[in-house]
Amino acid sequence: MTSASMTSLAATQPEDLASAGFIEKRPLEHYVAPAKPSLVGHSRASLAAALGGIGVPERQQRMRVQQIWQWLYVRGARDFEQMTTLPKELRAALAERFTLARPEIVTTQVSADGTRKWLIRLPGEFDGRPHDVECVYIPETDRGTLCISSQVGCTLTCSFCHTGTQRLVRSLTAGEIVGQVVLARDELRDWTVPGREGDKRLVSNVVMMGMGEPLYNFEAVRDGLAVVADGEGLSLSKRRITLSTSGVVPNIARAGSEIGVMLAVSLHAVTDDVRDELVPLNRKYPLRALLEACRNYPGLSNARRITFEYVMLKGVNDSLADARALVRLIKGIPAKINLIPFNPWPGTKHECSDWEQIEKFSEVVFNAGYASPVRTPRGRDILAACGQLKSATEKLSARERLALRAMALTD
Ligand code: SAH
Ligand code: SF4
Repeated sequence: MTSASMTSLAATQPEDLASAGFIEKRPLEHYVAPAKPSLVGHSRASLAAALGGIGVPERQQRMRVQQIWQWLYVRGARDFEQMTTLPKELRAALAERFTLARPEIVTTQVSADGTRKWLIRLPGEFDGRPHDVECVYIPETDRGTLCISSQVGCTLTCSFCHTGTQRLVRSLTAGEIVGQVVLARDELRDWTVPGREGDKRLVSNVVMMGMGEPLYNFEAVRDGLAVVADGEGLSLSKRRITLSTSGVVPNIARAGSEIGVMLAVSLHAVTDDVRDELVPLNRKYPLRALLEACRNYPGLSNARRITFEYVMLKGVNDSLADARALVRLIKGIPAKINLIPFNPWPGTKHECSDWEQIEKFSEVVFNAGYASPVRTPRGRDILAACGQLKSATEKLSARERLALRAMALTD
């Protein structure tokens, strides 16, 4: 996309983009539901409605939903026959109308350090191209982080982001958002085994830092994350779930009160001039408004800090004056700063800052009292992360893993 068209996009509401002719949005009415819907990813209310639809009387629905919930989200059942706490006839009736299908995996890449990247195909296609998203698992000693997507493509056009160049945009359903976590538990054999309920889970953290802008898919993200955080099911605590936004200011307060997960904000620049170029949404919601929304984020405290993401772009935003301005800008906000090495892609005009510069930048941040999560990598081969999930390479590049890992370090 040219910078001229990006400029015009910046002043436009995502809803207007299709009519402006820049991006062909793919609204959900074009979603092609499979003949037999899957129950994976459903909320309690929609499971109850599904049971009502096959004739389960209302007074039984609560108990049946509770049982199915356990099978779906604690045991990871893949077949109704496994649901032995349900009467046989109910299992048969469910199997007639529904499936327990997961999103389809197209490719799996596993790197030496255990990082896994799955290319996932969702229902639907556009101009003969399927709806694919990527999902990445990053194991570390004290946690395992799953990076999930909220949209296929993105209506926004951040100049350093590969996802932003994709023309196809469709929002994921709540079920598809949950489906990524279910799929990762399947692939990692990370379900609870009876008698070993206390075992640590491999997927302990979720970051919504894959494709898409989660706050432009608010309801599905809210409903999906509620299922992911449900203490009787997938059970990821809200403190271990992080939603990353490019700065959709009107939805930030809603995210705090209606979703209640940890917030990461893609700041990337300390002046409106630079941020207008990097994150065109800044023209609509400039730094002052964004930081105001951060200061007022519901539930913000020293124990629940905002993570400010800052992608390191050579000669663009990486001077030590920028570092000093960064700490001044966020003064008073309980915060962490994640410096993300830029992950280059074919055709990008940006370059990653030199490693020495990242270290100097990080020192300024550290001296101002912020933990400085970019560490000298153990050889550059060790690392893992998300954000720029469109590569067709066989293996994750060292740079890609470095970027992914930096992003995953949200707590
Ligand atoms: N749309 C949301 C979440 C998805 S992007 C957002 O922008 O916050 C997740 C993070 O990846 C963001 O901080 C984004 O700026 C960063 N990112 C995107 N492309 C990148 C790249 N090529 N290299 C490093 N980080 C990138
Ligand atoms: Fe969209 Fe985030 Fe990429 Fe910007 S950085 S284009 S908001 S996915």
